[in-house]
Amino acid sequence: MKIKRIAILGGGTAGWLSANHIGHALSHLSDVEITVIESATIDAIGVGEGTVPYIQNSLKRFGISEAEFLVKCDATFKQGIKFVDWLNPDTHGSNYYYHPFDEPFAQGYDITNYLLSERIKFENVGIQAQICELGLAPKQKSDVEYQGSLAYAYHFDAAKFAALLASNAKEKFFVKHQFATIVDAKCDEQGNIVSLVDEQGQQFEFDFYLDCSGFSALLTDKVLKVPFVDKSEELLVDTALVKQIPLDENAQLPPYTTATAHKAGWIWDIPLTTRRGTGFVYASQYMSEEEARANYADYLNIPVADLSVRKLDMKVGFRELCWSKNCVSFGLAQGFVEPLEATSILLTDFCAELLAKNFPRSIEESNTMSTYFNDVMKYVWERTTDFIKLHYCISDRVDSDFWQANRDMSASSSELKQRLCKFKFRAPTQSDFFSRFDLFDHKNFLYVLYGMEFNTEVKELSDTEKQMSQQLLAQNAQMISNAKERLLGHRRWLEALKSAYQKIHGE
Ligand SMILES: Cc1cc2nc3c(=O)[nH]c(=O)nc-3n(C[C@H](O)[C@H](O)[C@H](O)COP(=O)(O)OP(=O)(O)OC[C@H]3O[C@@H](n4cnc5c(N)ncnc54)[C@H](O)[C@@H]3O)c2cc1C
Repeated sequence: MKIKRIAILGGGTAGWLSANHIGHALSHLSDVEITVIESATIDAIGVGEGTVPYIQNSLKRFGISEAEFLVKCDATFKQGIKFVDWLNPDTHGSNYYYHPFDEPFAQGYDITNYLLSERIKFENVGIQAQICELGLAPKQKSDVEYQGSLAYAYHFDAAKFAALLASNAKEKFFVKHQFATIVDAKCDEQGNIVSLVDEQGQQFEFDFYLDCSGFSALLTDKVLKVPFVDKSEELLVDTALVKQIPLDENAQLPPYTTATAHKAGWIWDIPLTTRRGTGFVYASQYMSEEEARANYADYLNIPVADLSVRKLDMKVGFRELCWSKNCVSFGLAQGFVEPLEATSILLTDFCAELLAKNFPRSIEESNTMSTYFNDVMKYVWERTTDFIKLHYCISDRVDSDFWQANRDMSASSSELKQRLCKFKFRAPTQSDFFSRFDLFDHKNFLYVLYGMEFNTEVKELSDTEKQMSQQLLAQNAQMISNAKERLLGHRRWLEALKSAYQKIHGE
């Protein structure tokens, strides 16, 4: 049977990202029709404002102008994450490290051993951490769209981002859009979904389905009953309190996300051009809601009585099969580990691109493709879980039961345990991450491991290695002083873009 009618259930970030990927890949086929169905009464989750550079390629592929995206989504640049107090504040004092996006190999040369032997803060491997501290934009005015002097991603307003993706998918790829609250689905004898059923009993027939219905995972969970791989024993945070804060028009706009650790989790702080998005993430097993509210109010510097927040429960883990029968799940319907490192939109983007590249033209092809797809996505989820766990299990914080419990790696994968054993003897290299589906690899591990002062045996350095490392560090110092002259302040860059954009488009 040919696949001609494709339904995407859900109009959140996952639904519209998928619509653009699939729409773009199949736009040359005149007999294929894609429809996004979303409920007018069930809101999208509305959080998910931090990204990684992977998103740039997708936006470019969809034909979205970067300037339009930045202006319409109140977006700012993200050059990485500043992790505050992830080491024990009692022994290190108030502390921070950066996980920036630039590659940690100046001119392709690995100076990790030198930095470790000289006890130089690892982020000095490049210049991006300092550019962040200086509050500079990663692009020069003359840089073309989606290219910068330094690597970058974005922070944006999730609702405005979904709206931009929606209008793009409808205009460029002729994706149809329909409102209906779906309550059930009908399946054939083989278990394939044949139609969606709404509240009034009306049926909508399609050949292939994408489940982007958020945490409810209507098709994947309720209809197809795909088992959930629970990761809550390994990753302990399960609740978030969320609040948006108006932004003073002269306030600093940090070109990075701040992630501040606390007794039972961490707090995100994300600058948009119009407001700050913040969230207090915690493990409910180790902190009561009352205590979380008090700590959150303290962080935001407002009286707890004035703190109004949204509370979100997070289901930690992923579906054993992302592709089951004639249905593939995406976004929160597929899984979620937690918001640290902005893995969710990345995995949705990656997965939607993978499906778009391998989109089956028939149900027979779908049955064959699903095995490959599920193997890839299982690997991606497992390794992403490892990377998130890394942030917690190597911390030397001992100031609460939460941090003590995080040291327990009994539920962790053998890959993570083996890698950490190996990294006691030598620093990670590319060959430790041999799959192209390691979305977080040696570069990311280096920043996190050594940002958190992981103890790797220092290897003896040759004279050449020493000299080369010293030379590269001296060049970094020069590059920073050049950058100060070439790069505009983050806020100034965005304001200049907005006024130029408004002049041209009159908006
Ligand atoms: C606390 C928190 C912080 C996060 N921070 C980040 C971050 O910084 N970076 C990041 O990458 N990700 C983050 N995420 C994840 C991010 O929010 C999601 O990846 C993103 O919003 C995609 O969500 P979604 O589209 O899967 O689901 P949703 O946004 O929940 O959308 C679900 C859609 O399905 C529709 N729907 C649901 N049920 C039905 C039904 N029965 N009938 C019809 N339609 C239906 C709804 O109307 C809605 O349109 C965060 C998540 C949480 C919980």
